[in-house]
Amino acid sequence: MSSEVTGLTIGVVREHRDGERRVAMTPAALAPLLKAGARVVIEQGAGEPAGFSDQAFAEKGAEIVGRSDAIAARVLLRVQVDQDAVAGTHPGQIVIGLATPLAGVPTVKDIAERGATLFAMELVPRTTRAQAMDALSSQANIAGYKAVLLAAGELPKMFPLLTTAAGTLPPARVLVVGAGVAGLSAIATARRLGALVEAYDVRPAVKEEVESLGARFVELPLDTGQEGGGSGAYAQQMSEETLRKQQELLSKTVAGSDVVITTAQVQGAKAPVIVSTAMVDQMTPGSVIVDLAAEQGGNCEVTVEGQTIDHGGVKVIGPTNVPSSIPTHASLVYAKNVVNLLQLMLHDGLIDLDVDDDIVRGTLVARDGEIVHARVREVYGLPVAAAPAPAPPAPESGTEEVPA
Ligand code: NAD
Repeated sequence: MSSEVTGLTIGVVREHRDGERRVAMTPAALAPLLKAGARVVIEQGAGEPAGFSDQAFAEKGAEIVGRSDAIAARVLLRVQVDQDAVAGTHPGQIVIGLATPLAGVPTVKDIAERGATLFAMELVPRTTRAQAMDALSSQANIAGYKAVLLAAGELPKMFPLLTTAAGTLPPARVLVVGAGVAGLSAIATARRLGALVEAYDVRPAVKEEVESLGARFVELPLDTGQEGGGSGAYAQQMSEETLRKQQELLSKTVAGSDVVITTAQVQGAKAPVIVSTAMVDQMTPGSVIVDLAAEQGGNCEVTVEGQTIDHGGVKVIGPTNVPSSIPTHASLVYAKNVVNLLQLMLHDGLIDLDVDDDIVRGTLVARDGEIVHARVREVYGLPVAAAPAPAPPAPESGTEEVPA
């Protein structure tokens, strides 16, 4: 599927989800798209919640338009591809954003049925070439940093060791559970603040990374079955029994921590419960848990999504959409991720969906009225075999006009 870039319009809208302050484009990320000959139209005020004025976009060559003109663009860039995104989509349109494609939400099906082509940023493969497009990583990095600040804000102690004339204050003890992108960012941030940091992950391969950041890796005598899970791999779901054993083995370390930051995820599944209510009961009043998996069900049994719970004096924070709370930087990296992905589709003056490219194929969720991604089809109960096999792109009319 290809079309002339001449006349190609790329639209960016203001996000409507509650609490969403990020924007899918920034003035700094515009250049490669303009250079490729595209017009970039930005809904008036779209960047304001993230700190990017209309004037800043205009100075870099974007056009400021009304919402309906931005939505009508051939390519629509969004942060959240949610129900708000469905209404304006049309056949032939390419929509790129965070679409929670493995959550079984109606949005994905609705967009497919409207004939639009949908790319989900969550599905960017974990390969070296795809790193610059990996929005999950860029946003997790920010979330890990902010989790430490949230904890520091609630903790009735300081993080660093302080030796003063009035006595010595010991450093805060921080445990980070899950040493993926968010976890490593949390470890680095807590270390910068001077805390004594320990970290645990089911993938023993991360031990070296944890130690290189100055934290102690907690080793548990537990067969997690994840020995092969090196860098780049997702953790596998573990049995209830293994998770129970994990809780048992981890409880002493949790009880001795002032702060526990949990970041453990299993792609496409509910987050594993790692900190049980009984484990929270053993923590010292005043301690803090920040559960970055709150939106996926939580790593802590006490967590309530979007709330801070006082459980016997222990604060259990279940924040949602954490990257959005640092919207300028979150948008800067997200927009770069999106532009890098989009650039894979711009070839020799054409939009060319090369499904032989593993990144294009891996992120393509819906096309020509149907869901084409095998894993997503499975989630929606569609027969996997019915997905069209990758085929060389067929030429398409070279204008912005929407096919009937
Ligand atoms: P993630 O968000 O899927 O999960 C966070 C962490 O939780 C992971 O490290 C996982 O092993 C851990 N976890 C899951 N279940 C657990 C449990 N029961 N107990 C303890 N920990 C548990 O992971 P992520 O942050 O996206 O990163 C996973 C790996 O992938 C990392 O090594 C990361 O560096 C790598 N990565 C590579 C690329 C790339 O090469 N392009 C991109 C992103 C991530």
